[in-house]
Amino acid sequence: MSQVDVAILAESASQPVPSEMGAEALYDKCMTLAHNLWWSWHPEVNNLFRDIDPIRWRQVDHNPIALLREFTPERLAVRASEMVLHSRVNYAYRRLQEYLTASNTWASTNAGVLGARPVAYFSAEFGIHESLPIYSGGLGVLSGDHIKSASGLGVPLVGIGLYYSHGYFKQQLDHDGYQREEYIETKVQNLPIEPALGPDGEPITVTIDTRDGRLLARVQLMRVGRVKLYLLDCNVEGNRPEDRELTSRLYGGDERTRIRQELVLGVGGVKALRALNITAGVFHLNEGHSAFGPLEAIRQRMKEDGMSFDNAVREVAQMTCFTTHTPVPAGHDRFDGPLVEEHLGPLRDQLGISYDQLMGLGRVNVNDNNEPFCMTVLGLKLSRKANAVSSLHGHISRRMWQPLWPERAEEQVPIGHITNGVHVPSWLAWQMSQLYDRHFPAGWMQKIGEPGIWQNIHNVDPGELWETHNALKNLLLAFVRRRVSRQCRRRGESDDIIEAARNLLDPNVLTIGFGRRFATYKRANLLFSDVDRIAAILNDKERPVQIIYAGKAHPKDEPGKRFIQQISNLRHDSAFKGRVAFIEDYDINVCRHFVQGVDVWLNNPRRPLEASGTSGQKAVLNGGLNCSILDGWWAEAFDGSNGFSIGNGSVHVDDRITDRRDAEGLYETLEQRVIPIYYDRDRDGLPRHWIKMMMNSISTSAWRFSSHRMVMDYTKHAYLEAAGGLSVKMD
Ligand SMILES: *Cc1c(COP(=O)(O)O)cnc(C)c1O
Repeated sequence: MSQVDVAILAESASQPVPSEMGAEALYDKCMTLAHNLWWSWHPEVNNLFRDIDPIRWRQVDHNPIALLREFTPERLAVRASEMVLHSRVNYAYRRLQEYLTASNTWASTNAGVLGARPVAYFSAEFGIHESLPIYSGGLGVLSGDHIKSASGLGVPLVGIGLYYSHGYFKQQLDHDGYQREEYIETKVQNLPIEPALGPDGEPITVTIDTRDGRLLARVQLMRVGRVKLYLLDCNVEGNRPEDRELTSRLYGGDERTRIRQELVLGVGGVKALRALNITAGVFHLNEGHSAFGPLEAIRQRMKEDGMSFDNAVREVAQMTCFTTHTPVPAGHDRFDGPLVEEHLGPLRDQLGISYDQLMGLGRVNVNDNNEPFCMTVLGLKLSRKANAVSSLHGHISRRMWQPLWPERAEEQVPIGHITNGVHVPSWLAWQMSQLYDRHFPAGWMQKIGEPGIWQNIHNVDPGELWETHNALKNLLLAFVRRRVSRQCRRRGESDDIIEAARNLLDPNVLTIGFGRRFATYKRANLLFSDVDRIAAILNDKERPVQIIYAGKAHPKDEPGKRFIQQISNLRHDSAFKGRVAFIEDYDINVCRHFVQGVDVWLNNPRRPLEASGTSGQKAVLNGGLNCSILDGWWAEAFDGSNGFSIGNGSVHVDDRITDRRDAEGLYETLEQRVIPIYYDRDRDGLPRHWIKMMMNSISTSAWRFSSHRMVMDYTKHAYLEAAGGLSVKMD
């Protein structure tokens, strides 16, 4: 309980409980709101929880259940009268009920055939909100955005994932700027999850046999708007102690842990659907992690419909869509034969196939006994629809997997593309959404995946857009100062340093943001290739620049950790003091602050390794301008007027030469384009050309790189055909 609350409680103890709603009813409504993640993309509900206790709200990681559990119904009622929350609670509650029961959705007219046989969407991680640590980065946030848009569009879909009690690690940097990882157990009673119940009203546990014994997983349910997300959890009685830990960490552990997690996700997931009495019309495998799933579906078909293995494979593949996410070879899981046999052996027996046949399903060259079993190959072989996540990534994937279709030319390889997008209501700042409310037609939020409404940005007064952006930038800078001074205090640094952190960064200075995983191909340190040149750019007297960084390196990625160290230690360097900041523990919350407040979002991966990237799409919505290598989504978004390109898309066979050229390209773009345009002001102090570019960025890209557009594409180009309806060919 905060001090403020104690005071308020003492003051108002004698006041009667408000009459409009009983304390219990109010509390129940708040808890109902907190138990559906719908609240997380509705700023007015978010603000409602915050207003209950703003200080605790921040301390509990914006988790409304954790917050509410600190209150009794009576105390909450008192607080609600103080803050006049009753009508806001009622209004939010009513809207949620209306949302859950609405029948006039996009899908009701465009995807009726999915009807009672939903899409089962499998993903190893789901990034829905910072208070639910079951994601690590881009793939997870994409899955979260996918199911949120499926909910918004009314597409019948259930999510299948894993429940990680300790999630992904929390990042702290030590005195030397070296990354330390800590796994913290999430208090399950503070999470919006409940046991999933079968048709008989009993909690569900699925069993999976391996050659080495039986694995159990219980099924938890999380509500994300209209979508139900089922999470499998191995921490159950009946599992061996080491197996109870199996799903505790996301991407922790060795190969064996990994294949066991993937067995639970894929095979366990399909079994969970059966136990829930859900007949999926489509399986969507988001990345190869869940590709064992169709094998279990094949087994069910053979057993229940008396089909042959070959026929069952054909039937299941017909209803399966597979999305591949990376051109980085290490990003594709590969397992050795003995591990596969240990875990798939009992299932293989039931399928009536030999060891070689099973291994062949995961091999490009079926007869090569030295080739490990690759989950992506399995996914491609067991699906009739496959796609990459951007146009460029489509080309790369067709080349990469052409050997699987030796009789076909590269262009004929059946892997299409559906470019990733982001969930607009989750990433759009409230202030910016209010601006759009004033200038866009009523009901625009229902049409965020269509180009038309975003054209209205050109009617907005440039001064108003600029002012809104700068208000958000100030919020970002306040956030950075708060975080950096907290980091300094934790490391026990001197008062001078802590004081300096409080005054870090200048709102009048061009601010660049860089936040993402510190995988080496993303080249977080590219800007520092020529230290003197970047020092001159940042410290220019007339037109200075500042840059904020955040990102985690995978625990086993030593080079990535050294990048972090190099950048975070710049704060001790007099040439960069006050101009460069590193924020620890990049997550959805940090990302949201970054993409809502930066002037420029920087992305400089080694092309073509960024399959899509999505963080830059989040910046677009809020008026940030992208400055990026022509890779992933940006290669198709950039039109010369809506942001900045680095280089011209060419790469050299020698990475060192590519890196040198790209660094040069980056400096040139900054010096000749970004900085001059930003500081070119008219008599009112407005950067007219810059604001025009912000508008172009929003009008050309906000709809196109929204997850609403993405889910509509998946529905039209993949789900409908997989479900046996008509569909439009994917190009
Ligand atoms: C959006 C997001 C990402 C994706 O970043 P990219 O590098 O652009 O793909 C990663 N992590 C978090 C927390 C995000 O919100």
